[in-house]
Amino acid sequence: MVPTHPMFSQRPDMSFSPNGKQAIVFFDFDNTITHFDILDDIIERFSINRDWVRFEDDWSNGRIGSKECLEGQLKSVRVTKQTLSEYLSTIELDPSFGKLLSLFKKNGIEFVIVSDSFSFIIKEILRHNGIRGVKVYANNVKFRGDELIPSFPYASKDCTRCAHCKKKHVLEHKDKKTIYIGDGLSDICPAQESDMVFAKENLLDHLRKTQTPCVAFRNLGDVYRYFGTLDGTKPKVKKVLAAV
Ligand SMILES: [Mg+2]
Repeated sequence: MVPTHPMFSQRPDMSFSPNGKQAIVFFDFDNTITHFDILDDIIERFSINRDWVRFEDDWSNGRIGSKECLEGQLKSVRVTKQTLSEYLSTIELDPSFGKLLSLFKKNGIEFVIVSDSFSFIIKEILRHNGIRGVKVYANNVKFRGDELIPSFPYASKDCTRCAHCKKKHVLEHKDKKTIYIGDGLSDICPAQESDMVFAKENLLDHLRKTQTPCVAFRNLGDVYRYFGTLDGTKPKVKKVLAAV
């Protein structure tokens, strides 16, 4: 049973009322599709000193945004593209991610990944796990030998909290039903702009504090069970979306 936030159950119209509005699902990546934060692990694993700790503390305490934090932390990382790719080939995804994509595809629902990590890292992990055809919006990184040079094409001019302002992508799709799945601080703004939210950990804590409607989840198996079924009966996806 997926725990449901009380605010969500109080939404005025949860009855079946079909309409033709398209739907799009936004997935966070680290700790949502993966089992832990891969970018944090890369920084810790391949840093040549402990400078990353100071940047992490400054970010945690709100003294710097994630762009400044990542720029600072990557200065100490030394790893070649090949070694990083070898490491990324060991990363497993939540086993329900592929099933969820198939379910959404079958029902004409779009899906994208929005992440405050880097496209290269995400695409390598997806490739090693045999996942194709998912649009990825994330920060960029170039290799210069064993140094990583970041750039941030989706940074906001107005807010420095996140390196990648994920909210922009949700706002660009407001003509659709927007569904957001995430766990972290960079997911707060896009979740607040979405029509339906699946949340865990820091994101869930924040949405509960601010009484923002959401559905709590532990892993993507919970999200799959919310939309689909595992016992061969008809998936509930259309009914769920009609109520969004
Ligand atoms: Mg995350």
